[in-house]
Amino acid sequence: MSQAKEHGKAGYAMFDPEMKTRAVERLHLKRGLRGGLDRDEFLIYYQRIYELGSGRISGCEALLRLQHPEHGLVLPSRFIPVAEETGLIIPVSEWLLTTAYEQMKAWERDGLPSLQLSVNVSPRQFNRHDVFEVVNPTLERSGLDPRQLLLELTESALVENADTAITPIVELYARGVEIALDDFGTGYSSLTYLRRFPISVLKISESFTRQVTTHPGDAAIATGLIALAHNIDLKVVAEGVETEEQLDFLRLKKCNAVQGHIVSPPVAAADFTPLLRRQGISLTA
Ligand code: C2E
Ligand code: MG
Ligand code: MG
Repeated sequence: MSQAKEHGKAGYAMFDPEMKTRAVERLHLKRGLRGGLDRDEFLIYYQRIYELGSGRISGCEALLRLQHPEHGLVLPSRFIPVAEETGLIIPVSEWLLTTAYEQMKAWERDGLPSLQLSVNVSPRQFNRHDVFEVVNPTLERSGLDPRQLLLELTESALVENADTAITPIVELYARGVEIALDDFGTGYSSLTYLRRFPISVLKISESFTRQVTTHPGDAAIATGLIALAHNIDLKVVAEGVETEEQLDFLRLKKCNAVQGHIVSPPVAAADFTPLLRRQGISLTA
């Protein structure tokens, strides 16, 4: 029934036994998520973002994880849709922002280099200006420079919420917060949104990065995207970089930064600290 509803009022969907398994899993997750915040079951994994020009770690992306008592470590692709559906994404995002800010301050207090923190924003957070209401007070309390925050939005979030999203985004941008368009190339790839919103970073989806050295079409698209972004003064971060060949290609195309297993996978805060101490890492040119 919920699948049919997703297709609109007169939508329909055929039942198959797989659906039952998924529905039961969703129900379990829904129950589990509800008390997850109180039981400290949410975790943040951090992944380094490596600037190709300077050879330095310029930032990190905060990625949610759920430590479920039965299912173990659950990835966001499984629980974010459920958290969005139930509205739980709002308090969880608030928790993530506060916790990640505290972590950044702790690293700075320990004399570690300050980084730009990337945080993903859900479409649900645009309703009733939630993004602004959460980010603004959290920023104020943390005492961190707003320029240290990069909010990552997907194109579909902007397309679905273009009218409600514009005001909070412009207000945050005016405060100094930077905005990135995440997973660019996988959705509409509409240039209108690049013009309409104050976006300063384009993140190329790992679905393109994966094949830049094996698929001429993807190589051409990635080359074009980087050139287009640079022409309108946007920085480009390539996601999901795993091999030396992909890195060489991106360096040649003057991509600004890379994120992916070649630099390091997302890790828990305790494992991130030693990685931060090795700031000036050298990925072979
Ligand atoms: P994303 O924002 O595009 O995050 C990048 C994803 O790529 C992460 O998956 C990361 O683990 C994965 N990745 C990083 N390096 C590599 C690599 O070298 N190879 C491959 N194959 N993958 C790599 P993850 O952590 O599973 O997160 C998936 C998505 O869940 C994120 O995609 C983001 O859209 C969403 N998400 C994560 N945390 C949050 C959150 O706090 N709030 C919201 N709203 N969404 C979140
Ligand atoms: Mg992201
Ligand atoms: Mg992405």
